[in-house]
Amino acid sequence: MIRFASLGSGSKGNATLIESGVKDTDTRIMLDCGFSTKEVESRLAKLERSAESLTAIVITHEHSDHIIGVGRLARKYNIPVWLTHGTWENCKDSVFPETNFINSHEDFAIDDIFLHPFPVPHDAREPCQFVFSDGASKLGIATDLGSITPHVIEQLDNVDGLLLECNYDSHMLHNGAYPQKLKERVSGDKGHLDNKQSLQLLQNLKVAKLKHIIGMHVSEKNNTDEYAIEALCDGLNCEASEVSIASQSLGFDWRELA
Ligand SMILES: [Zn+2]
Ligand SMILES: [Zn+2]
Repeated sequence: MIRFASLGSGSKGNATLIESGVKDTDTRIMLDCGFSTKEVESRLAKLERSAESLTAIVITHEHSDHIIGVGRLARKYNIPVWLTHGTWENCKDSVFPETNFINSHEDFAIDDIFLHPFPVPHDAREPCQFVFSDGASKLGIATDLGSITPHVIEQLDNVDGLLLECNYDSHMLHNGAYPQKLKERVSGDKGHLDNKQSLQLLQNLKVAKLKHIIGMHVSEKNNTDEYAIEALCDGLNCEASEVSIASQSLGFDWRELA
């Protein structure tokens, strides 16, 4: 059984938990660590977990909202870190107790969780996203990508749960307060997904097995939860009650894939 939760999601920090099996003997992976050690400790406590119990930290890319706390947390609790070589080279704080390199075209396992990485178009050195599996069900995670490629769609086909970026509403971004350069970066092919792109991805995806869909990395300035929910519902042809949004302050509570 795969269980998952979020410590927080958005441009001010990201961290997701994926665990397997029984609560106390689990493999427990933290995907990204975009919060300070203190913040991670208190957010983990809210989810009834401790940093001591983390099996590994896996990093998607080197932007600070994904790595700001990884070095300190890994050293304090002696946690092994997994990341691509390109991400590692671009980490400012890259001294980890154990460093494992990911080939973003090769599956690997951390104890009893299987990881299927896939490269994504984003303005980082060697970014990748993941499908996590226990062999029975699959959780797809796709944030921080600027465009939907056929390869990305193929990786996310037939997942049981999907955490999907809904970063911005195009109208709000272009009429908002961001400087022009930043607007171009966010909306570029290597920036972030807007609601419409997420909707289109869902329309092109095989979703017969999909039981959990959560909008991630929602901009506090250039989007609203309502817009993101509307896009996900339109993409899946479902009710608003069937989709959720991860918040920056609280993430979301534990869910499980049966
Ligand atoms: Zn990010
Ligand atoms: Zn990023």
